[in-house]
Amino acid sequence: MTQHSRITASVDYEKNGKQVGYLSAPHSHNLSGWGAARFPIAVIRNGSGPTMLLTGGNHGDEYEGPIALTKLIQALDPARIQGRVIVMPFLNAPAVAAGTRVSPIDGVNMNRTFPGDPLGTVTRMVAHYVHSRLLPLADAVADIHSGGKSMFFSPFAAVHELDDKALMEKSRRAMLAFDPPIGLLVRELDVAGTLDTEVEKAGKVLVTTELGGGGTTSTATIGLAERGVRNLLRHFGVLDGAPETRASLGLKPTRLMVAKEDAYVATDHSGLLEMLVDLDAPVSAGQPIARVYDLEHPGAAPALYHARSDGFLIGRSHGALVAAGDFLAMIARDA
Ligand code: CA
Repeated sequence: MTQHSRITASVDYEKNGKQVGYLSAPHSHNLSGWGAARFPIAVIRNGSGPTMLLTGGNHGDEYEGPIALTKLIQALDPARIQGRVIVMPFLNAPAVAAGTRVSPIDGVNMNRTFPGDPLGTVTRMVAHYVHSRLLPLADAVADIHSGGKSMFFSPFAAVHELDDKALMEKSRRAMLAFDPPIGLLVRELDVAGTLDTEVEKAGKVLVTTELGGGGTTSTATIGLAERGVRNLLRHFGVLDGAPETRASLGLKPTRLMVAKEDAYVATDHSGLLEMLVDLDAPVSAGQPIARVYDLEHPGAAPALYHARSDGFLIGRSHGALVAAGDFLAMIARDA
């Protein structure tokens, strides 16, 4: 039996023009017995055509998506598009408001709870609504991520290794249209419960990114997000004109890279992290890339961590304090 969503929307997905409203998820708590948690959503539509679903703030401490998509909502003129753009700039709005990766309401990580639960906690309800109500409307989805407060990445857009090779190729072309500095074909560490996996299961194009991190932004990473999202809209025919290429801006073309299971390095120790290589530096398999010092035993030799493959450091822990099990580094090779 299909459970109906408890969420109501203040926007009409079939209406032409620009609407900026919210999804309302019932949230009864001590300060508001009959209250609701609101999740901003914009629908920009002009007649028939493809539908793009654009999301930022899936994790609440990643800011390029929220900023670039807020600017897009304000700038997009419905008369100048063909089709429909659905934007949730702060997908996990309570987490964005709190500046935290997961929701302060229920402690749930939005991107580990898809396809959600209509009778679950607030974050699960919203994931279910996105999956059951918005995803069926969308031809393609872009979910803009960054490293958050705990990680930092050399900016990349990514598509996943998929069994459906035709979908993988469509996704790869969309990723190239985003025109990132690095275009990564990635095998993820942990895909269960992600929006990505559900979009791909539905046979639709998903482009995701990691555009920086550390809980902040730069003019460069926000520019990448803005240009990338507009290029995607052009790629799918929602906006007119050819994508704005890196070449036309005098930038080096997208570097195609791959990351397999051996891309990731995690720590077995807790303590103080000293990275031995910086982002974008070349590394070779077996090369020491980090030391972790024991905070209780400064006389003890640090634990040494090594690259598991040749390549380039494209991601690292942002924090200098790490705990056993934490992500330390991501290494990708040229494709
Ligand atoms: Ca993220």
